[in-house]
Amino acid sequence: MKLRFLGTSAGELYPGLWCRCRACQTAREGTERDRRQSATLYIVPSAGKSSLHDKEEAVLVDFPPEIAHQAFRHRVDLAGLRYLLMTHSHGDHWFPYLLRWRHRAEVISEDPPTNIGGPRFTALPTLHIYGNAAVEAVLQRELGSNLAPYDLEYHCIHPGDSFRAGAVSVTAVRANHDVGSEEALHYICQDVRATVLYGLDGSTFLSETRERLRDFRFDAVVLESTFGQGEGGGHRNFARLTEEADWFRQEKLLTGGGIIVATHFSPHHCPPHRQTEAYLRPFDIIAAWDGMEIEVGRSGKGEKEDSR
Ligand SMILES: [Zn+2]
Ligand SMILES: [Zn+2]
Ligand SMILES: [Zn+2]
Repeated sequence: MKLRFLGTSAGELYPGLWCRCRACQTAREGTERDRRQSATLYIVPSAGKSSLHDKEEAVLVDFPPEIAHQAFRHRVDLAGLRYLLMTHSHGDHWFPYLLRWRHRAEVISEDPPTNIGGPRFTALPTLHIYGNAAVEAVLQRELGSNLAPYDLEYHCIHPGDSFRAGAVSVTAVRANHDVGSEEALHYICQDVRATVLYGLDGSTFLSETRERLRDFRFDAVVLESTFGQGEGGGHRNFARLTEEADWFRQEKLLTGGGIIVATHFSPHHCPPHRQTEAYLRPFDIIAAWDGMEIEVGRSGKGEKEDSR
């Protein structure tokens, strides 16, 4: 399974769009890896028995405001996407406005007639979106309740649900994030070679989630660390991140080559990339960057490369 990190920032972006503090200015003037966009992950499963090409089986986790730019920048063609997993409804993860442009024109044609307007002239496979009730409500506000002209299907899911997204088996577990407002979700994604947890947004795992995680052995655990060297609720900081990493190792929940990856960094609590990377390395935690690609699972080497 290949994991391509299309974005690794927290909601304010990195540097913050509206901030000129020292940290944000440093990021503006720093190296490419110091500049991050909203967190999202593109998963390409390993070829199994499926006859479909790998990319047609790809799974995107979250759909942030910068997704179009992220797709161009990191060379991902989203037009054929069939599966989108939504963690929760917060605006840095869910920007359904861009789905408006999937609306089918009256004519499907490679050469659109000049007398017919329309946002899209190509036949697309149905995009299946999985998420909670809050994500669905935001989608309905944007597109209304008839999703057919957009070739979209929404699947409202709850913590504990398992389902198949093509070549990927998915299990949703409850995230410790905005509890009481919505059922934020972490996702466990499995293909023929690997098991991966995408654990954001969220602070220290709830006990029911911990129980469920014990049923798996992970090749990669991706956790957020928004608050870095600072403090705050609803998200992890580096202290809670490293405690969680210890927990996975003590409970033997990682496979032999299993890795832990940090993402969703805020410029106001997490230092520039090289320092964040150096801080996390002794804990055997990889600091993700925008464009990082890792192959995980059996025969994967857990090696990082830049997808650009
Ligand atoms: Zn977030
Ligand atoms: Zn700032
Ligand atoms: Zn959030």
